[in-house]
Amino acid sequence: MDISDFRHWSHRAADWGADYRETVGEKPVRAQTKPGDIAGQIEKSPPEAGEPMETIFADFERIVPPGLTHWQHPRFFAYFPANAAPVSVIADYLVTAVAAQCMLWQTSPAATEMETVVLDWLRQALGLSDGFAGVIQDSASSATLAAVLVMRERALGWKGNTDGLANHAPVRIYATKEVHTSIDRAIWISGVGQANLVRIPTKGPLKGMDPEALDRAIEADRAAGLLPAGVIACVGGTSVGACDPIGDVAAVAQKHGLYLHVDAAWAGSAMICPEFCALWEGIDAADSIVFNPHKWLGAQFDCSVQFLKTPAEQVRTLAIQPEYLKTHGHDGIINYSEWSVPLGRRFRALKLWFLMRHHGLEGLRGMIRNHVAWSVELAERLRGEPDFEIVTEPVLSLFSFRHKHETAPDQHNIALVQAINDDGRIYLTQTRVDDAIAIRFQAGQFDMTRADMETAFEVITEIARRL
Ligand SMILES: *Cc1c(COP(=O)(O)O)cnc(C)c1O
Repeated sequence: MDISDFRHWSHRAADWGADYRETVGEKPVRAQTKPGDIAGQIEKSPPEAGEPMETIFADFERIVPPGLTHWQHPRFFAYFPANAAPVSVIADYLVTAVAAQCMLWQTSPAATEMETVVLDWLRQALGLSDGFAGVIQDSASSATLAAVLVMRERALGWKGNTDGLANHAPVRIYATKEVHTSIDRAIWISGVGQANLVRIPTKGPLKGMDPEALDRAIEADRAAGLLPAGVIACVGGTSVGACDPIGDVAAVAQKHGLYLHVDAAWAGSAMICPEFCALWEGIDAADSIVFNPHKWLGAQFDCSVQFLKTPAEQVRTLAIQPEYLKTHGHDGIINYSEWSVPLGRRFRALKLWFLMRHHGLEGLRGMIRNHVAWSVELAERLRGEPDFEIVTEPVLSLFSFRHKHETAPDQHNIALVQAINDDGRIYLTQTRVDDAIAIRFQAGQFDMTRADMETAFEVITEIARRL
């Protein structure tokens, strides 16, 4: 492709993107295609001869959009949001055009230095103490894996990487059953093993970890000759928003010298609003915190931020320096690839810089406050309907509810979610609370308005009553 074609098609792509955003709210939120519909329209073998861009672009416009679920749709109320504010998309266009590999300082000093500065902006925005330094990871799953590896290495006297795990007592890590599955996978991949992920009881679906039970579990493991290594707490669990009491959990972890990682992948964005920070009271005592600006805050996926109290411990766990990766002649520089499992890294700080400058913290706070207020309002309206019940109260902008049914409540509510998503005006997902199906609602899409919440109320009540 020559430069004039590159220019032409880049403009076409940008126009397509703007048209898409302009009309996305008119489409069914969840893709309405059946399995195989899209694959069936793609040639089974690659072309031997190159094809003209006109053909490729036309096929894209014909085949792809029907198979998209619209995460930037204002009535996306499923899972958690994956907001990509237009300003962060523009930043990512630029990053894609430049396509730098930002693994070391010298492979693009702008990427490294901007990352250090904008993550300190974020640290200040979240009200974290200046004892934390940040790094951008590709996902919360990666950040949690890095934290679990640090826990393992600290517990094994930094010998796990060299000697393996065979000649040590089992390393033990503590969490409730409310934590995300990325914690289980970090436990598997790190070699710690599922059997050594100790589930600490909660004080109820939303109340989080029982710190006394944590204390007893650690004592019992020590007495049995096992190696307690770390605690993983969550703020805003994925199912219904459970929050562990961070200050109390941190006190127990500190008493036993254990590393504390806090997963606030979704809820962390809300901590730019001082009135929500009570949800993670005591957070400054954590060793590692992860939150995803690519969820609620509006940074185009992927952008997960990990704050570390002692980055040197993570570097000691993950850094490896063959000669070809050494940077000679510069002291005191940061090579962020030494803070993460993958070596290669995109220039992700640019979209945070664009996002925070364009919206300002007040703009972002306003969006989050609206989502919380509208979600609470919807919960109250559903509570007022005699055939509905609120299952878990709102945590920020997330709550769960159920349409009452005498004989088969689980089947009825699963059928309700399916009927709502087939209808297409809104998109919801279900979860389990105390082993019964509940329907989740979270407000969080960047362009959502109060009217979208009212549409949600109409769609939910109308479809439930005609099932
Ligand atoms: C979304 C989520 C994750 C996983 O995030 P990725 O960035 O996709 O790995 C982990 N924990 C919680 C609480 C989440 O909500």
